[in-house]
Amino acid sequence: MNVFSHPEFDNHEHLSFFCDPETGLKAIVAIHNTSRGPALGGCRMYPYASDEEALRDVLRLSKGMTYKSALANLDLGGGKSVIIGDPRKQKSEALLEAMGKHLESLGGQYIAAEDSGTSVPDLKIMGRHTQNVAGVAERMGFDGKPSNGDPSPATAWGTFVGLKAAVKHQLGRDDLTGLKVAIQGIGNVGFRLAKHLKEAGAQLWVYDIFADNMQRAVDELGATPASAEDILYLPVDVVAPCAMGAVLNDTSIPKLKAKIVAGAANNLLERADHDQALKDRGILYAPDFAINAGGIIDVFYERTGASPDTVREHVNGIGDTLKEIFIRSDRSGLPTGTIANELAEERFRKHVAKVESLTERLARVG
Ligand code: NAD
Repeated sequence: MNVFSHPEFDNHEHLSFFCDPETGLKAIVAIHNTSRGPALGGCRMYPYASDEEALRDVLRLSKGMTYKSALANLDLGGGKSVIIGDPRKQKSEALLEAMGKHLESLGGQYIAAEDSGTSVPDLKIMGRHTQNVAGVAERMGFDGKPSNGDPSPATAWGTFVGLKAAVKHQLGRDDLTGLKVAIQGIGNVGFRLAKHLKEAGAQLWVYDIFADNMQRAVDELGATPASAEDILYLPVDVVAPCAMGAVLNDTSIPKLKAKIVAGAANNLLERADHDQALKDRGILYAPDFAINAGGIIDVFYERTGASPDTVREHVNGIGDTLKEIFIRSDRSGLPTGTIANELAEERFRKHVAKVESLTERLARVG
């Protein structure tokens, strides 16, 4: 297995492979970049078919966090971890404790949060051995409601704000009354997004692989149930994928009828150039790592102890970031995904330059 010459390696600062035979823990921690601050990112548990698959996933996700945090103007670096194993069969308290000890050994360079296959209680178990877990503190949430640390409400709110910015840009309207939105995946984020949209007067179509999740949106929000085959291709204004990645691809893009794609799922584009394919069809794509940054913003402030108003204001900034991306895309003719990457790199460089000049100034004074 190649590491330094891996196609996704991209100058990662740190990679550690951790094995604990007693508990069956096999984990990889990837820290892409810490120039803006400690690397914060989810700890995913997944039954990867091979070590190579796990390595590729962690490297891609970790770099993605550098970009997401820079674009969201957070003093955080990018990192991610994966535990190789089936969370329904192989997760145990002992395994999570062993992971906590490994996180502690990294000295705070990487901070883990929940991700697919892990939950707030799992992170709390890891937290018995380390402070380097996030999204676990009970506090007043950004919405003024008590929170257990779960970032999903902030992610859903940020996605709603970003969706509104996309509607304003593409359809020229502020009012969402009667706006038709199809949501794929009615889980933690998808259901909350649906609720915000319903409250704003939108009409909803929903699909989830679990019938009870879908039924809840039908019963509580008056949504119309759709099928797995149809959900992305309904004649609606907005498609909001909130389940899994790679749903925007060579097969799906030609069949989309919506004029906007704005959803919370990570890695929506199967290939980077699929943003161009969306642009060619006149579809406005809200880049996933811009629109779904509410959760990382919320988790960041858990560590600084900011007020709910501060968190909410920062999450609301997702709308401004998207507006900037859309305007630059129109001006340059480049697709929105490319622009989002450029803007993230710009914000990253600006921050690093500021820190460097501060260090130089301090050195002169000292
Ligand atoms: P979740 O597991 O609570 O919800 C996902 C939902 O999608 C589940 O109800 C699941 O049954 C459904 N689903 C799975 N496969 C599906 C399919 N093929 N078709 C339709 N539905 C399907 O997860 P979540 O926390 O709501 O996150 C949703 C997405 O947003 C994920 O891609 C996640 O990575 C991303 N995201 C979440 C957060 C967060 O704060 N939770 C932050 C950033 C990004």
